[in-house]
Amino acid sequence: MPISPEALIRDDVRAMRAYQVHDSSGCIKLDANENPHALPQPLRTALAARLAEVALHHYPDGSVGAVKQRLRAHLQLADEYDILFGNGSDECIQLLVQAIAADGVKVMAAEPTFVVYRMAAQACRVTFVGVERRADLTVDVERMLDAIATHQPQLLFLTSPNNPSGDVLDEADLRRLIAAAPGLVVLDEAYIAFAKAPMLHLLDDYPNLLLMRTFSKIGAAGLRLGYVIGRRAWLTELDKLRMPYNINSLTQTAACFLLEHHDAIEQQVQQIRRDRDQLMADLATFPSLKVLPSQANMFLVRSEHAEALYHYLHERRILVRLTNWHPLLKHCIRISTGIPEENASLLAAVRDFFATRQ
Ligand code: PMP
Repeated sequence: MPISPEALIRDDVRAMRAYQVHDSSGCIKLDANENPHALPQPLRTALAARLAEVALHHYPDGSVGAVKQRLRAHLQLADEYDILFGNGSDECIQLLVQAIAADGVKVMAAEPTFVVYRMAAQACRVTFVGVERRADLTVDVERMLDAIATHQPQLLFLTSPNNPSGDVLDEADLRRLIAAAPGLVVLDEAYIAFAKAPMLHLLDDYPNLLLMRTFSKIGAAGLRLGYVIGRRAWLTELDKLRMPYNINSLTQTAACFLLEHHDAIEQQVQQIRRDRDQLMADLATFPSLKVLPSQANMFLVRSEHAEALYHYLHERRILVRLTNWHPLLKHCIRISTGIPEENASLLAAVRDFFATRQ
């Protein structure tokens, strides 16, 4: 008898569910917090020429040196800081958890938040402490401070802006939480391009702080490139767990290209911010919808009709995210800002949905 998965795979792994991604072909995609704008055509042509020169018969640069050099310059990073790249920030999260995983270790975050922190902890059999947010989904800082004091987490994820709520932690609260943390703190700034205040400068004040960002939300979700910025002493250790050549050559070449053409990305980001504000304002005019404040490229809408609205939109081939994985997110859908035509289609569909219910 050949060995079966039941006999071999860990019980806790068999009890898990894989991360689900819908088939989105032919749909308006407002479900994954991507940048809805393609790269302008002249840049795509120039990028294609650059990619054609990539030496695919060789392994990529294992140190991701060219991207690092350009990103350092772009961020004006001081010498004492380094950058560690992951296959998406998802991989960075995995490396961080792996690096501290041991009996009795705890990972903490304010929930609901990005599910991969919990997934990574579960995969490494590390206790995950989810500290419940307030009903309005903002971080309950006092509750968090209590939980830090009680659990003494080795790793604390702070997410600003948060996914799925889009709310931000202000600098004073961030400072209180980081100062109280006995272990490593990772400030996940995946959506920072759409927010008012980046917090890179906090690295100077807290030796236990790392910052995490990604190319995914600003126009390159397909590249799978995320990174951690922080003091060398931390990143040197994490680098030992990174698999060789984790960032492929096409990604490295495209990332360099995007950093060289950052103005084009910045224009798209500004447009998304304007379109997000407009879309939120338009949706807020529907009496049955409550639009939660957000500084990300996506936002939550709460309505007693959320489930029906989600299915209605789905039938019209408009994908949004039904965020029913946490009690505080009951009756919420998460909407990523689209290009103006997509946002108009969404609004028209929402209008039709409520018209049929009167
Ligand atoms: N952090 C947050 C808060 C996110 O929402 C996401 C993507 N949904 C990630 C990290 C991971 O991004 P990626 O792996 O695409 O870099």
